[in-house]
Amino acid sequence: MLSFAAATRQLATARRCYATEAPAKKSSNLPLVLMGAGVAGLGGYYYLNSTGTSVSTQTQSPLDPENFKDFKLKKIVPYNHNTSKFIFELPNNEASLLPVASCLIVKSSDPEALKDAKGKPIIRPYTPISPPDLKGELTLLIKRYDSGNASKHIHSLKEGDTLSVKGPIPKFPYKMNEFEEVALIGGGSGITPLYQIVTHALSNASNRTKFTLLFSNVTEADILLKSELEALKAKYPSKFDVVYVLDKPPAEWNGPSGFISKDVLQKFVAPPTLKEKVKVFVCGPPGQVISLAGKKAGMQQGELGGILKELGYTEDQVYKF
Ligand SMILES: Cc1cc2nc3c(=O)[nH]c(=O)nc-3n(C[C@H](O)[C@H](O)[C@H](O)COP(=O)(O)OP(=O)(O)OC[C@H]3O[C@@H](n4cnc5c(N)ncnc54)[C@H](O)[C@@H]3O)c2cc1C
Repeated sequence: MLSFAAATRQLATARRCYATEAPAKKSSNLPLVLMGAGVAGLGGYYYLNSTGTSVSTQTQSPLDPENFKDFKLKKIVPYNHNTSKFIFELPNNEASLLPVASCLIVKSSDPEALKDAKGKPIIRPYTPISPPDLKGELTLLIKRYDSGNASKHIHSLKEGDTLSVKGPIPKFPYKMNEFEEVALIGGGSGITPLYQIVTHALSNASNRTKFTLLFSNVTEADILLKSELEALKAKYPSKFDVVYVLDKPPAEWNGPSGFISKDVLQKFVAPPTLKEKVKVFVCGPPGQVISLAGKKAGMQQGELGGILKELGYTEDQVYKF
């Protein structure tokens, strides 16, 4: 049977699947009753399983990779001094079914509210922190920059307002157990794509990959998802470790401080000599990505540069979000 990840990858590849299409393969748990009529709009179908319980099988994401669609902001949950969770409603209690790793791009529902000097809409990528199979909701964790365009707009929204969203935008197609060691190097709100990968992999019982997250922030109060990361570390001690790096550490800080350096990388990241068994994912503010792995070329990876190149990592071993 297909894993959830494989199924979502297939969905993304197939782009738009339609509820009326026959499912590709059925397990022994065959649907006894197909209620096709009238449910196509729900992006799935209902059947009674062998115990007579009604089960819904969703085959289509409510998101559209080709077009922006408005989604209603159901709830805003303040997270810390500059970051909030924005919980959007997914229609008909559907799940996003986003493949891992992928992101969404967003713009304002009101074309006048968020545009650049030439009058073009400002569009930015965000990665949900809610799992792809969560029904009815999609959560973005968004940090507000005082001089930021999109983040300031989203933070000005109120519950009941909408945001225009397009996706999924495929990033790295993560395959279970493709690597022995994965290093996740993140800065600030750059944690979200890394969190998407690690939660997806660790929640799969077949996972054998060891993940090390190097997570840099200005102060301790800026660390996003800290309790979630600590919970992952407690639950999967042999498969996940996190090292926090602070620019401005408190007096009693034992961890690394300053920018992520050569020494820190050598100490915590699996060596490049592991060849295809090691992968390094990088997501952070542009300055950090440049210093660690070289500049991205727009949407393309760009040449590998920075400290990772100096340490001998190759382009195949590094992925920049
Ligand atoms: C794949 C991907 C996923 C992302 N997911 C998330 C997410 O889940 N949550 C989230 O909050 N952000 C996320 N981001 C960052 C997000 O796309 C925007 O870059 C960020 O919200 C700033 O946009 P803005 O329009 O507000 O600022 P801009 O108007 O673009 O920039 C204003 C100022 O902020 C600085 N700035 C811009 N981006 C960053 C940054 N990332 N870190 C530090 N300074 C920055 C600029 O240098 C500039 O000085 C993600 C980025 C990528 C590439």
